[in-house]
Amino acid sequence: MRIGIKPNLVAPMEAYWGGTTHPEVVAGIVEYLQEKGFSNLVIMEGSWVGDKTSESYEVCGFKSLCEKYNVPFLDMQKEKGAPVQCGDMTLNICKSVLDLDFLINVPVLKGHCQTKITCALKNMKGLLPNSEKRRFHALGLHDPIAHLGLAIHQDFIMVDNICGDLDFEDGGNPVEMNRVLAAVDPVLMDAYVCDMMYYQPEEVPYITKAAALGVGCADIRQAEIRALDGNPGAPIPKSRKVVELADAVEEVESCSACYGNLIPALDRLKQEGLLSNLTTRISIGQGYRNQKGLLGIGHCTRSFTCHLKGCPPTEEEIYEFLKSYITET
Ligand code: SF4
Repeated sequence: MRIGIKPNLVAPMEAYWGGTTHPEVVAGIVEYLQEKGFSNLVIMEGSWVGDKTSESYEVCGFKSLCEKYNVPFLDMQKEKGAPVQCGDMTLNICKSVLDLDFLINVPVLKGHCQTKITCALKNMKGLLPNSEKRRFHALGLHDPIAHLGLAIHQDFIMVDNICGDLDFEDGGNPVEMNRVLAAVDPVLMDAYVCDMMYYQPEEVPYITKAAALGVGCADIRQAEIRALDGNPGAPIPKSRKVVELADAVEEVESCSACYGNLIPALDRLKQEGLLSNLTTRISIGQGYRNQKGLLGIGHCTRSFTCHLKGCPPTEEEIYEFLKSYITET
């Protein structure tokens, strides 16, 4: 039996920053499986567009983990996709995913600046080639994520809720919760996470869309929830930093890395008291290709009067660009 393990190595940041899966959680899964006699294991992941998986693999501690347990690692950024019919959508999925007999998803419970939460369903996006990740954003993100649930069956989900960042997908503001959550239904898992983070599932449309497609159940009243030590732990603190910062932005179909680099750059400007001097809305995303405008971030806004090159530009580049724009204007 070929078993795939899918952590979240979105960017080359160690897990204590709150953006990536703790290697210790995956090590526990690997040890358990090897003790039970399962030897055909593989760890698979592709970082977000803009960062290299090969770098994340090393920085996040997965190179040493794979060497220690003699488990191969497959970089999804180096794989070609194969078309898979998912309901009324055709999606391009990395070929080796289609050879698995069993998939264990090990996402991090995090906030997300575009979809509000990211956990079980959205973590599957790391099993797509980069070109398909970009296309997901052009398709509006929610619909393709929901349909992806039809193509990739998650047999077991182990959520890393040790210190996930409740604002940014790539981490930087970890919130210590020190627990893991397990589930067999990715839709129910995500609906439960919504509830923990004070959202209704309807506020994260890919969850309700996935439920409508039959991927799982979005009604947590149907869930049987057990806390192993009898104590489900502390509630997650409320966090709305991203919502506030997003007021400065007009976003249309932007890639995760592009938008994910912009929001922390805005946070830095806010902390320095500069953001309130910005009177022009910032445009970002593939929807601005060939459009005219004033202030844009990324290659997609290259026809704007003032735009920052890069696909995606880094957080530092965005910060410096906006800082000089604010100062000059
Ligand atoms: S510039 Fe456009 S295509 Fe490139 S990362 Fe940003 S939104 Fe995506």
